[in-house]
Amino acid sequence: MTEHFHSVVLGLGAMGAATVYQLSRSGVRVAGIDRFSPPHDQGSSHGDTRITRLSVGEGAQYVPIVRNAHRIWRELEALSGESLFEQTGLLVLTSRPDFNPDDRGDFTLRTIDLAVRYGIDHEVLGADEIRARFPQFADVLDSAVGYFESEGGFVRPERCIDVQLKLAQGNGATLFRGETVTGIAAQDNGVVITTDKRTLHADKLVITAGNWTGDLLGEPFGKWLKVYPQRLFWFALDDARLVGRSPTFIFTHGEGDDGVNYGFPAIKGEGSLKIATAQYRSSSTPAAMDRTVSAAQGQQMFEEQVKGRIAGVSSTVVKSAVCAYTVSPDRHFIIDEHPALPNTLVVSACSGHGFKHSSALGEAFAQWCLHGKSELDLSSFSLARFKESALTR
Ligand SMILES: Cc1cc2nc3c(=O)[nH]c(=O)nc-3n(C[C@H](O)[C@H](O)[C@H](O)COP(=O)(O)OP(=O)(O)OC[C@H]3O[C@@H](n4cnc5c(N)ncnc54)[C@H](O)[C@@H]3O)c2cc1C
Repeated sequence: MTEHFHSVVLGLGAMGAATVYQLSRSGVRVAGIDRFSPPHDQGSSHGDTRITRLSVGEGAQYVPIVRNAHRIWRELEALSGESLFEQTGLLVLTSRPDFNPDDRGDFTLRTIDLAVRYGIDHEVLGADEIRARFPQFADVLDSAVGYFESEGGFVRPERCIDVQLKLAQGNGATLFRGETVTGIAAQDNGVVITTDKRTLHADKLVITAGNWTGDLLGEPFGKWLKVYPQRLFWFALDDARLVGRSPTFIFTHGEGDDGVNYGFPAIKGEGSLKIATAQYRSSSTPAAMDRTVSAAQGQQMFEEQVKGRIAGVSSTVVKSAVCAYTVSPDRHFIIDEHPALPNTLVVSACSGHGFKHSSALGEAFAQWCLHGKSELDLSSFSLARFKESALTR
């Protein structure tokens, strides 16, 4: 028997949990499906913490989204009693020997420019101020520049997903966990979704399948979306004074992807500091991905990214994880109606920077299901941009 829902959400990670929660508030019949039991550690949404910031150096189109997201995290905290969004302050810092202060492409300068343009509260810090306020950055060059946003900080990805799924269920949403969608087809002014256990019919379908989107949908998504595994490291603290004093940070210290790391405050009771980089050299697939982290990789991370740069942290790795980005050709989100399947929205809102926006995007996707369009302008994430782009040839 085919069960009918107004809306079905395929994938209940960051984007799907937010969408199913927002849909559940409207009272329509909604279902969510996930091959695992989210929150889980097989996709893009694990590892304890995700950076959030109002001045999103990736582009101006993200600023209205993250503003809404900060509001919704607070609403979710009030509803659930859970702490989801920690406003620790965010430091974006460039301290590199070849720094050119006229290079407006530098991530810190881009972040400052955007904050000025959008009236986001911030401070611009010179080397002496950075050294005085954040002594954990061990080797700040005289030419360094810092951007400090007091409203920035981090969100707790697993908790955010868990809270939204629980609230959605409380509002009457049906969640099918441990079920894999194997087929999608247009039918009767809607969509038929086949899983390994049942068949559903929906007026609207939102696909938020993360790393699996290319495998599920085939071309052109398969060739556009690349999956890049990333390694995360938690280093033991040497200096307990770091607890409660360190900001969330993005630190450019050299050229290319290896010249940037990011990290989180030492959290009370955890005794460690999480630090990571982003790599776009070696792609994989969810099925073939090596999810192990070796001791040698931990030591390499310490030598290249921590030693001499971040004080108060020892070389002992207390925890590590592999978590993968789904990356589009221009590293911006894909949010658009499926080119061949009516009533179906395809979402790949990752490229390594999507979590902070997820609560607001879920609200926008729910509006699309209910009213055919969202209040937020998401047109810059449409598929049309790839038609003429050399990036997709
Ligand atoms: C290491 C790392 C660091 C990051 N840091 C930041 C950061 O600091 N700040 C920030 O804003 N963002 C960050 N991001 C990006 C952010 O985490 C992602 O944008 C976000 O998690 C993507 O969510 P998603 O819903 O697309 O994918 P996921 O959360 O992975 O969800 C996809 C879901 O779909 C399910 N699924 C897939 N196929 C099927 C199927 N056929 N049937 C049923 N279910 C299916 C999966 O099981 C999964 O649960 C980071 C990402 C990574 C990996």
